[in-house]
Amino acid sequence: MSGNFLALAQPGVQQLSPYVPGKPVDELARELDLDPASIVKLASNENPLGASPKALEAIRGAVAELTRYPDGNGFALKSLLAERCGVELNQVTLGNGSNDILELVARAYLAPGLNAVFSEHAFAVYPIATQAVGADAHVVPAKDWGHDLPAMLAAIDANTRVVFIANPNNPTGTWFDAQALDDFLQDVPEHVLVVLDEAYIEYAEGSDLPDGLDFLAAYPNLLVSRTFSKAYGLASLRVGYGLSTPVVADVLNRVRQPFNVNSLALAAACAALQDDAYLAESRRLNEAGMQQLEAGFRELGLGWIPSKGNFICVDIGRVAAPVFQGLLREGVIVRPVANYGMPNHLRITVGLPAENSRFLEALSKVLARG
Ligand SMILES: *Cc1c(COP(=O)(O)O)cnc(C)c1O
Repeated sequence: MSGNFLALAQPGVQQLSPYVPGKPVDELARELDLDPASIVKLASNENPLGASPKALEAIRGAVAELTRYPDGNGFALKSLLAERCGVELNQVTLGNGSNDILELVARAYLAPGLNAVFSEHAFAVYPIATQAVGADAHVVPAKDWGHDLPAMLAAIDANTRVVFIANPNNPTGTWFDAQALDDFLQDVPEHVLVVLDEAYIEYAEGSDLPDGLDFLAAYPNLLVSRTFSKAYGLASLRVGYGLSTPVVADVLNRVRQPFNVNSLALAAACAALQDDAYLAESRRLNEAGMQQLEAGFRELGLGWIPSKGNFICVDIGRVAAPVFQGLLREGVIVRPVANYGMPNHLRITVGLPAENSRFLEALSKVLARG
């Protein structure tokens, strides 16, 4: 008799749904026998600019040393981050993507009998990281698609160890302001670690979105996570970071893989961090593209959820899955968000002007077919 290795998995894992990524370009090209170059992918919040030339140059420089393990302490990148973020080196944790940071938090602080609080329509990795370690997920209903911070406070109990909040949130693009964040942090019990996920913060500069770093000194139970995958354009390399007290960083360091960030990612992230022109261009392009998409939706008579990220959820007004399929046949990949409890929406990543136009034309065509 062989064992039932599904039933033998820990209960949280048995109930997990795996993360659903955006459809890869090559997969659609194979399925529809299309030229990959003709396909527009606006499905994974990737930076349409391509990587910074400085990052690419740094990668070429690091290739000669691929036979060696990377610097397991990530000294060069941590030093740069500490300087830029105004923290000490021992407050920085590097991750294999910021996803890794979220998982390190779950592994270090959650266990069966304990729970994490997060919002409805929040990032899919929060339930995955929570259930994977056998902890309970307390999912709090959203308010106007965004986090209901007072309700999230009320959902915290004696067994809560972590609260995940994203600002702006993915996939909704919703955000809260500095006052709301401060009110929340003031009332969160001291035994609860607040993970403030700022994967898109670089796109929100100059807006009323708070900078989580401004709150680190006042709140020792705060961890801010950020990534090089979005505005810095290095999604494939998998590098992100957490900023916290030295104690929390020390705890996370105990459970991380010894060489969790590879040498090409370290080199590229250092270069990208110093390429201010690239970041400014990414922002400019995103703002222009967001306006282009909103204007297009307006013209089509569609509603949307205002977003401070590099993506936007458009309301199709009925179940959106057939429209998603129709767009695929037009060679345009966007993201269905039914698995986030949003069956009538599609999430569109802001692309280059020509990509946004291709998408809007395809959308118009698909909607006209009814
Ligand atoms: C994309 C994203 C991340 C992390 O991505 P990594 O590539 O793992 O750094 C984290 N949080 C949110 C809300 C995201 O959208």
